[in-house]
Amino acid sequence: MPHIGHTYTTVAADVLARFYKQLGYDSRLLTGTDEHGAKIVEAAKKNGRAPKEYADEISEKFKQSWKLFNIEYSRFIRTTDEDHIKIAQYFLQKLYDKGAIDLKPRLYKGLYCIGHEKFMSPEELVDGICPDHKTKPVEHSEENYYFKLSSFTKELEEIITSDKLKIQPSSKKNEILGKLRQGLEDISVSRASLEWGIPLPFDKTHTAYVWIEALINYYTYGSQEKVWPADLHLVGKDILWFHTIIWPAMLLSIGERLPKEVFAHGFFTINGQKMSKTIGNVISPKQLVDKYGVDGARYVLLAAFPFGEDGDFSWDLFDRLYNSDLANGLGNLAARLAKLAETSEFKITNAENPKEIYRKAQKSAIEELKFHDALNNIWLTDIGSLDKHINQEQPWSIKDKKRLQEVLRYEIEELRSIALKIYPFMPQTAEKILKQFSGEIKSSPPLFPRIG
Ligand SMILES: [Zn+2]
Repeated sequence: MPHIGHTYTTVAADVLARFYKQLGYDSRLLTGTDEHGAKIVEAAKKNGRAPKEYADEISEKFKQSWKLFNIEYSRFIRTTDEDHIKIAQYFLQKLYDKGAIDLKPRLYKGLYCIGHEKFMSPEELVDGICPDHKTKPVEHSEENYYFKLSSFTKELEEIITSDKLKIQPSSKKNEILGKLRQGLEDISVSRASLEWGIPLPFDKTHTAYVWIEALINYYTYGSQEKVWPADLHLVGKDILWFHTIIWPAMLLSIGERLPKEVFAHGFFTINGQKMSKTIGNVISPKQLVDKYGVDGARYVLLAAFPFGEDGDFSWDLFDRLYNSDLANGLGNLAARLAKLAETSEFKITNAENPKEIYRKAQKSAIEELKFHDALNNIWLTDIGSLDKHINQEQPWSIKDKKRLQEVLRYEIEELRSIALKIYPFMPQTAEKILKQFSGEIKSSPPLFPRIG
């Protein structure tokens, strides 16, 4: 079920994709759902569904959430999609042909955590229990095919150290390098006992291990659309290892180019606690949109704390950000200007082409994924200065018509340029402002009604 954790990543990705589109790039945003593996089988069973039926429902819910948040993805890929199954098999066969996967399976015995979808090493367990899933892993032995990850230690170290594969933030790069220097072990890439997965092309009695197969989704899209390699993988820090070690090693094995950058964003708590159904502090995407509107919800998520760091969300914080920055800040500013323009019958003629204005101001913290800084810059610098300008010039008391027109023209151009800067974050609001402040200007209901 989508929760605000997924929403946080996906809104950030959408801001980035829209920002580059606005600059004229052919930027693509890929999102989707991983649908294979024991975890899905178990969840489906609990819900009285077949795995595929269950996956259909879940992916539909994700799609609805992204629609609700105005996410403009290029493709929503499901790992049960036919083209993905075909390309995943092609990829796995290539790994096998290149000798990166053992010719024969090895017998493995160990403790398997279904929540993790992997065998757990004794050090990962606390009193024999998985600390993340609070469950006892099950003893399990089976034959698995292994990917020779251990042979990539040196090469990966070089690639990561030199930023050929850039890992951000740099604290995460150091963590990965530290772990990498302790050495890599070969990893299992198949399950013989699990039917719900993609059959290995070279041994149909095995299915591909879900994590390995799911990573290939990027290649499914990128290779078919001829947009490989990806410029960026945006991931939660819990899956950083897969994206910076295993995935690059798989690509190196088949002689493919690596993604340029992997960025791990932080995790958040809610009122200082981990989000959990038991505590009852789960925030759904719909609740956010119901309360703040689409753009308000997109805004409060990214304005709360710097991307990449861990932070704390709360309804209080969201309310405060919404009221101060949107209702009182941007919303009030637009309302003031509309009223002034309306009473003085001001008209915007030959407004500059929005795209051109934007390109003039194209240097933005967004490029470094500093969404929080980018928003701060717009609010403190642009919106702050415009507010100040209006207070100093006091257009409502200017008697000279020509002078009044000049002041209003400047202020409205400033507001239009602010609209273009907020566009990646708040596309609907930007469009509303640009539309309202062109031609004849009329007052309209507040952009962001105050929340009590
Ligand atoms: Zn676990």
